[in-house]
Amino acid sequence: MWLKRSAGLNTGYGQRLWPVFALLTAVVVLPTAGVLWFMNQAMQNEQFAVRQRLMEAYRAQLQSAAGRVRSEWSKKLARITEEQKRARAPEAFAELVRAGVLYSAHFYEKGNLKYPDPAALPDVTAEPGTALWLEARRLEYEKNDPRSAGEVYRRIIIQSSGDRESALAFLAQARCLNKSGRPQQAVELLLRTFGGDRYLKTTDPQGRLIHPNALLFALELMKEPSHPLFRKNAALLAGRLNDYRAPVLPSGQRRFLMQRLQGLWPECPSFPTQAAEEMAAAYKSESADRLRQGQLQPGSLKDVWAYQTQDKSLVALFKKDQLLEFMRAAVEADGSIPGIRFSVLAPGISRPAFLAEDIGDTLPSWRLALDLDEPDPFESATNQKITAYVWTGILMTVGIVFLSILIAVYLRRQVRLTRLKNDLIANVSHELKTPLASMRLLVDTLRDGHCQDSQLLQEYLQMISKENARLSSLIEEFLTFSRMERNKAKFDKSVLRTDEIVHAAMEAIGERLQAPGCHLDLDLAPQLPGVVGDRDALVTVLVNLLDNALKYSGDEKNIRLRGFASDGRVCLEVQDNGIGFPRGAAKKIFDRFYQVDRTLSRRTGGCGLGLSIVKFIVDAHDGSITAKSQPGKGSTFTVQLPAA
Ligand code: ADP
Repeated sequence: MWLKRSAGLNTGYGQRLWPVFALLTAVVVLPTAGVLWFMNQAMQNEQFAVRQRLMEAYRAQLQSAAGRVRSEWSKKLARITEEQKRARAPEAFAELVRAGVLYSAHFYEKGNLKYPDPAALPDVTAEPGTALWLEARRLEYEKNDPRSAGEVYRRIIIQSSGDRESALAFLAQARCLNKSGRPQQAVELLLRTFGGDRYLKTTDPQGRLIHPNALLFALELMKEPSHPLFRKNAALLAGRLNDYRAPVLPSGQRRFLMQRLQGLWPECPSFPTQAAEEMAAAYKSESADRLRQGQLQPGSLKDVWAYQTQDKSLVALFKKDQLLEFMRAAVEADGSIPGIRFSVLAPGISRPAFLAEDIGDTLPSWRLALDLDEPDPFESATNQKITAYVWTGILMTVGIVFLSILIAVYLRRQVRLTRLKNDLIANVSHELKTPLASMRLLVDTLRDGHCQDSQLLQEYLQMISKENARLSSLIEEFLTFSRMERNKAKFDKSVLRTDEIVHAAMEAIGERLQAPGCHLDLDLAPQLPGVVGDRDALVTVLVNLLDNALKYSGDEKNIRLRGFASDGRVCLEVQDNGIGFPRGAAKKIFDRFYQVDRTLSRRTGGCGLGLSIVKFIVDAHDGSITAKSQPGKGSTFTVQLPAA
C-alpha cells in the first residue's frame, strides 16, 4: 500500500523535549553572555588604564608648553632690562615698542616718572617779557599792526642775547608776515632760518624744541602737500618725530606734532610709536604704586595689562591681544603636535577644556588649555573595538545557538523514534494479545471435544474467524503505520472519479452497512468533480471514517455520506448519530494511538491509529480534514481534496 513519512503528525511527544532544548540553549547562551560581559569589563578597564596613561602624557605636554611660555616671558623681561641698561629711557621706549617687546611703558627714576614726561605742556609758547617783546606783542595783538610788530621782532633778532630768543623772534616775525598777508615770505623766512643746524637743539622756556614747531608752522602756511618743498620738509619733520635720540622731543609735543602732521599731509607715514605714546599718556602713572612687582596684572585701562619690574624702574604695558599672541607663539615654538590643540585662557575666561594648567607665578591666573582635535579619539577607537568584539560574540552565539537547535532537532527526532518504537511494541503486543487469547481459548475448547453441538461449533468457528479478521486488520494497520513512519509509503496518483472512490469504500465495508438497525444515506452531488490521488489510499480514508461511524454508534446507526463540491474542492462528509466526543478531543483524535475512551477499544477493536492514517493520507493529497462532534449526538468528519 501507499503511505509516506510522518508529515508532521502531532504526537505530543516532542513537547517534553522542550526543557532539554531550553537547557541546551541556556548552556550555550549563559556562558557566552558571561564571556561577553567579562570581555566588556576587561575592555573598559583597559580603556581606563590607557586613558590614565594618555592623560599623563597630555599633562606632560601641557606642562612643557607652559614652561615654554614662562621661558619666553623671562626672555622678554631680560630684553627689557638689557634695553634699560643700554639706552636712555626715550630710546629704550622706542626700541622696545618697535621690537614689539611691549606695547607701551612708563619709565621711572627714583620713584619719579621719567618718560613719558609728566608735565602737560601749554599749547602756546611763552615768550620772553623784555620791553621790546612787550612792545612787539602790543603792536601785534592790541594794535593789530603785524607789519610794525614784525619790524620790532626783527630788531629783537639783531639784538638777541641767545639762540632761544632769536629763534622765538624768527617764529614771531614769520607769524607777523603771515598776518600781514605775506605767507610766502613767512615760509621762506622759516625755511631759511630753520633749514640749517643752528636751532636744532634750541628749546622754548617749557622745554619744547623750537625747530620742529617752526617746520610745522611752515608746512601749515604752504598748504600744498603735493609741492616738493612741502614733501621735503614734511618728511624732515616726520623723521624728527620718529627720532628718540637727544635732544629728545617731549612726548606731549611729539604726540601733538604727529597728529598735526597727519592732519596736514595725507601721505604721512605711520609712526610706530604713536599708539604707544597715546597709551603711555592715557595710562595713569599713579596707578603704578598699586602694582605688585614682578607680576603681570590688569592695568587701569581696559584690556591693558601692566608689569612692574622688581626695581620699580619700569611699568611695561601690554594689550591683551598682544599677550595672547605672544603666548600662543611661545606654545607653538616647538611646532604643533598632531591631534592636540593648545589655547591660552586669559584671566576671567573659563571654558571646559580637556586639560588646563596655570602658566606660572609671573603670569598669575593666565592658564593654558589643552584640547583634543577629535572629541575623544581613544574612546571612539575603544568603542569601535568593543563593538567589533560584541558583534563577533553575538555572531558566535547565534552560530552556537543555531548548531544547538540542529542538535536539539536531531535529538528530538531520535528520542521521538525511540519512544514511538517502544509505544508501538507495547501497543502492538497489547492489541494482539486479546484476539490471540480469545482464539486460543476457542481452539482449546474445540480441541478438548467439549463442543458436540454442531450449531455451537459453527458459532465458535465464526468467532475464531472474527478474531482472526480483527487480528489481520490490526496487523494491516500496524504495517501501514510502520511504513508511514519509515517514510516508505508511496502514492500512485492518477485522476479519479469521486463517486467511484465512494462506492469502492462502501463495498469494502460490505455487509456491515446492511446489518439490522443500520441506515446509510448516500448523497452525492450530480457532476461531482474528480480528484487526483491514490485510489487505494483514498478508499482507505473513507473506509476508516465509515468504520469509525459504525463502531462509535449505538444499535440504531444513521450514517450519512455526502459528496459535494465547494470552492474548487471536493468535500466528502461522513456523519453519524453515535456517541460523539468532547470538544477538547477534536484535535487530539488525529494523534497516533489516541483514543477518547480506551475502555471502548476492547469492544470496538481499535488501537487509535485509524484517524492518524486518514490525516496522513489527506495531507499527502494537499487536502484537509476536520472533525465536529457533540457528545451523545454524533460526529461529522469532513475531508476536503483539491478538485482535479
Ligand atoms: P480507533 O482504532 O480507536 O478507532 P481512530 O484513530 O480511528 O482509532 O480513532 C481515534 C479515536 O477517536 C477513537 O478511539 C474514538 O474515541 C474517536 N472517534 C473516532 N471516530 C469517531 C466517531 N465517529 N465517533 C465518536 N468517536 C470517534
